[in-house]
Amino acid sequence: MQRMCLECSKPFKGRSDKKFCSDNCRVTYNNDKNATVRAFFSQINKILYKNRKILKDLIEIYQEEDTNPKVLQQLGFNFGYHTHIGKSEDRQLVFYCYEYGYIKVNKNKITLYKSDQEIRSTNNQHQVLAEVN
Ligand SMILES: [Zn+2]
Repeated sequence: MQRMCLECSKPFKGRSDKKFCSDNCRVTYNNDKNATVRAFFSQINKILYKNRKILKDLIEIYQEEDTNPKVLQQLGFNFGYHTHIGKSEDRQLVFYCYEYGYIKVNKNKITLYKSDQEIRSTNNQHQVLAEVN
């Protein structure tokens, strides 16, 4: 069956599940694909790190107080990105960027929030698991 290589577009003959004319083309194609995925991850990580830094800096100044979301936006905060959603002690949704987050009070008001969960190193986690087992 005549097929077309996904990398170099040359026609080749082979099994119906074969996508490349050669190992070289397969490796080149997958490397490019991985590089694209890595660039995408890196772009999102940059936004998340920046969001975290802004929350961290503001919490150091204002503590866990109400803030206008515009203050964050002016510093370059991107409200479209967070790492996870948790709940505060009074069961409000917290949008986290790692250990720092915020609670949406209303359109003009958010409350800055820091998780009281300690961040442990991977080594410590291994230790905890070992103790449990
Ligand atoms: Zn090829």
